[in-house]
Amino acid sequence: MADRYFVETAIAGGEARLVRAEAHHLAHVLRAKPGDEVTLFDGSGAEFPARVEHVGRSEIELAVLSRQAVDRETRVRLTLGVALPKGDRQRFLVEKAVELGVACLVPLQTERSVDRETPSALERLRRAVIEASKQCGRNRLMEIATPRKLADFLADSTTKGAVHLFAHPIAGPGAKAFVDACETSIASGDCPNVMLAVGPEGGFTDSELNFALAERWEIVGCGERILRVETAALALAAGVMLLSSRA
Ligand code: SAH
Repeated sequence: MADRYFVETAIAGGEARLVRAEAHHLAHVLRAKPGDEVTLFDGSGAEFPARVEHVGRSEIELAVLSRQAVDRETRVRLTLGVALPKGDRQRFLVEKAVELGVACLVPLQTERSVDRETPSALERLRRAVIEASKQCGRNRLMEIATPRKLADFLADSTTKGAVHLFAHPIAGPGAKAFVDACETSIASGDCPNVMLAVGPEGGFTDSELNFALAERWEIVGCGERILRVETAALALAAGVMLLSSRA
């Protein structure tokens, strides 16, 4: 899966151009020369074997040799709503979410979360999505959505055919274990969409929990221990991925 490069504009026709970080990496780190072959992807679900034609100061021109539709997406579309953790843990979460096949990550604004979604932070996360996709072979980029208030995210629970899982460590009214909440629906392939809500370090408040119950989200626990935000999000994303790839 090495030597994959991301092209920012959709590839159409026989030529493509790498710019910015991608051009820098290929030109200055790997010292590419005309004639070298690499694989390009543009997030559209395909990959493109290509040959380096010209190495410029800040961009590289390539000849596109073919288009190969290669789908490495999961069978279930997982939307992960999560109150972002700090610094490096945020990047770790995004990188692993890409590997596990999360389709869309929605930064959640909750009563106890700190605003960490500056435009530059979101831009860094989008760059982390590209890096992880290069490494793991995904040809569609995980979307980093604009941040949403938790209530708006939860109110979207009308999405048809979706499983809605609200992660909460305290077994409250209606709480279920993850497998009991979604094993049948996900593994049977009947539910093409899963929505997951994971709270901030300080947890969801009682009123947020009650709102989730009113909006008919399943309250799911993942064991007896308190997990950090990214651990809870990734454990549940891994569970969804493994259940959905079983059929
Ligand atoms: N002190 C907080 C802990 C928050 S942990 C509290 O008691 O709620 C951060 C988030 O990770 C939680 O809001 C929840 O969404 C998720 N989480 C952590 N541990 C979990 C567990 N054992 N089961 C389900 N969700 C968990």
